[in-house]
Amino acid sequence: MQSQKELFISHELFSKDPFEIVSNPIFQRIYEIYDKVSQYIREFLNKNGFLEFKSILLGPVTDPGIRGAKQITVDYYGKEYKIMSSAILYKQFLAAARKKSGKEGKIYFFADNLRLEPLETASMDRHLVEFIQVDLEIADADHFDAMKIAEELLFYVISRVKENEKELKMIWEFFQPYWESRGLKQRTELKLPKLPLKRYTHKEAVDILKNTIQENPNYFEQIKRLFKIEPKKISYTTEIHWEYEWLISSINEEPFFIYDYPRGARGFYDREYPDKPGILMDFDLIYPEGYGEAASGAAREYEINKVIQRMKETGERLEKYKWYLEFLKNHGIPTAGFGIGLERLVRYICALPSIYLTLPYPKIPGIYNL
Ligand code: ASP
Ligand code: MG
Repeated sequence: MQSQKELFISHELFSKDPFEIVSNPIFQRIYEIYDKVSQYIREFLNKNGFLEFKSILLGPVTDPGIRGAKQITVDYYGKEYKIMSSAILYKQFLAAARKKSGKEGKIYFFADNLRLEPLETASMDRHLVEFIQVDLEIADADHFDAMKIAEELLFYVISRVKENEKELKMIWEFFQPYWESRGLKQRTELKLPKLPLKRYTHKEAVDILKNTIQENPNYFEQIKRLFKIEPKKISYTTEIHWEYEWLISSINEEPFFIYDYPRGARGFYDREYPDKPGILMDFDLIYPEGYGEAASGAAREYEINKVIQRMKETGERLEKYKWYLEFLKNHGIPTAGFGIGLERLVRYICALPSIYLTLPYPKIPGIYNL
């Protein structure tokens, strides 16, 4: 018999009797917080002049830069269409069109996204195959403008969700026994972050990680134990791998940004600084206490020649992007935006050992539960 302790941090949780789990009062409290967080996000965005559009599910092409995840193809009347892994291209279009109409070019989706994440992410507690990201875009903006909206949004949601402190404390108390074994810090209160949040360049973040590991090589063992993977090399020229995002997250006590990722790390739509070749005008927002990535965003590459050059470099088939390239050629303007994972935000607020506890039918990479 599995002890209760093992069960709550196990992928088997929902395969026992999903009804028992989903009808459990603690889980129902989590779903209530999920609902409230969604409401607070909409409140903030609508107050700040953003218009919500219905999320887009299908298209001839979707965002190709999704960190090793595979896209899902469907047969759309004899043509291969993709299920959105991220609707970045559509956001740019809508923000530019709204601006052109004479309004503020600020738009968002509660975007349903599907990503067949690599199998090893199943043990990382923050990947779902099916998830929602609140995906927004702002016309005539750059990544620094987008970062400001991201931190203000987080601040607003946390300040509103604190009104539910009694419910939150009940959830935290229930999951407290599982935190340590999932690499999460102890939590007694949800602190309102101080704005502006700390901002590290990618280079500074890599330096911090290298120093931290040099001072305490035991972190390698902890990574192996926690995530059942061999830690990769830390590099100035690639993404910050999941295990190091966890590490830098766990040694911070407030949310923070990493910005200026190297060119190899992200897709063609993250704009390269015109005066700093090889560096992208983009960012991630990271939670503290071990919860890892919250959001990714960027200023967009919108100049058609540059976009085509970047697409060729990463081997994209240009004809798939026909509508997008036509749009950029005729109407492209500077825009910036980001996507913040809804389930990750709820996980952080509720201090849940794993992201799959946020949803009644979680799709965990490689697991056939529900
Ligand atoms: N949607 C995000 C963006 O706006 C990126 C992502 O989907 O990961 O850049
Ligand atoms: Mg990301």
